[in-house]
Amino acid sequence: MSISNRIPQRCDVLVIGGGPAGSSVAALLAKQGVDVVLLEKALHPRPQVGESLIPHVWKYAELTGAAPLMEQQGFVAKAGGITVWNGKIHRIAFAEFGFSRPALHVERDIFDELLLNHAEEQGAQVFQQVAAREAKLELEQPEVTYLDKRGADTVEGSIRCRFVVDASGSAAVLAGQFKSKRLIDSRMRFLSLWGHFKNSRYVGADGRSYPAGEVNKVRPVTFVTSFEDGWIWHIAMRQVSSVGLVINTDRARAMNKAERERYFLYTLKSAPYLDLLLDEAEYQENSFSQRPDYSYYSSKLCGENFYCIGDAASFVDPIYSHGVLNAFYNASITALAIGESLQTPAYRARHAQLCENRIRQFYGFSRSLALGEFGGDGVDSELVRRFMRQVPQVELELMLAASFMSERSENFHQLAQNAGLKIRPTQARAHVMDKLLL
Ligand SMILES: Cc1cc2nc3c(=O)[nH]c(=O)nc-3n(C[C@H](O)[C@H](O)[C@H](O)COP(=O)(O)OP(=O)(O)OC[C@H]3O[C@@H](n4cnc5c(N)ncnc54)[C@H](O)[C@@H]3O)c2cc1C
Repeated sequence: MSISNRIPQRCDVLVIGGGPAGSSVAALLAKQGVDVVLLEKALHPRPQVGESLIPHVWKYAELTGAAPLMEQQGFVAKAGGITVWNGKIHRIAFAEFGFSRPALHVERDIFDELLLNHAEEQGAQVFQQVAAREAKLELEQPEVTYLDKRGADTVEGSIRCRFVVDASGSAAVLAGQFKSKRLIDSRMRFLSLWGHFKNSRYVGADGRSYPAGEVNKVRPVTFVTSFEDGWIWHIAMRQVSSVGLVINTDRARAMNKAERERYFLYTLKSAPYLDLLLDEAEYQENSFSQRPDYSYYSSKLCGENFYCIGDAASFVDPIYSHGVLNAFYNASITALAIGESLQTPAYRARHAQLCENRIRQFYGFSRSLALGEFGGDGVDSELVRRFMRQVPQVELELMLAASFMSERSENFHQLAQNAGLKIRPTQARAHVMDKLLL
């Protein structure tokens, strides 16, 4: 193995996982000159779900420096969202909110690889096909053991560092170790089934449908419709559309994978409007995937020498496309906290606590939007109200408008009111539509 392929025995910050959270924190720290090593279990490009990005992500992409690369990639720019929730149709258009850049529909394998390569270009040492196993969190010198699967034989190794960042997504390596991962109330525990379709028509901002080939001419919206068991998304990308459904875990507990796939296809064909969009589309059989048993959060997030971020910290129903945004936000405040802690180690505990509060605030914000039931274990509503007061007006207005598009966000409205926010009336921005012309 050449020297450049050799995993060092020590570094300042060891990041576990090269999704949006891990790549972003690694890029931000490496930009500051911090010695960062990132271990990624898979080999990118690797499949990932979560293709709808809201315009808020750009400011974090500017921070890491990935924004120009994202622009060059030519991802599909989206115009907004349309939901059909219990028969009521709502539309929002991002252009009305004053964002200077569009929201996107991204192929996540391409997007995530772009971010990982960018982290490496900033100076992070990235090792793919290397899976972290365990972190021993001794205060002055944490040690992470790993399995290096790059060669013909799997090799065990370990690396010492000053800080461990767990960005391992739903694998949640540290939360597994701490036994701190908590599933939410069974009514809010979801299973997602999804797949890709070629030549699917898609929905434009005017509520009409367009052929797949026009996606770069007529901007699509992210289309969401509720059905008896849950809700369905349709996200048009350059070559395929991602279509998936979210249901309560109990609904599919007794089904095996083949039965779930049949249920998935049957539901799409019988759901309002989806049948029309998919009428002449070709299902990509190998694309069927599932993610069982979420939403969750970890009751322990940051300590003097560790940080859990992105999906490794928490995950709620993806209805408002907050996952990548949450990953970016967590990465940015963690890079700040670690950067400060490296300079003034005496304040490590304080920086960790401040960072944990911020991660919890954002989690509560997303959770109040996406889960009808709010409060209880794991969420501090006062923290969320404080967070709402700090969110830039335009971003808050968009979330508030979006929250009128489903029947999942009553608590969000309540919190916004209790926070005493002076928001211009935004209800008008979630326009009611009589019908769609698909
Ligand atoms: C059904 C569904 C739909 C979604 N839709 C959207 C959407 O439209 N918009 C949106 O913004 N978000 C969406 N999300 C959420 C979004 O996909 C995630 O929030 C986002 O990917 C989180 O990024 P991350 O970096 O924390 O984790 P991930 O993207 O999961 O990355 C974690 C990385 O860690 C690696 N890893 C795991 N274990 C180890 C280990 N032991 N050692 C080393 N590496 C390891 C993995 O290989 C992976 O590359 C959706 C999620 C689901 C389930």
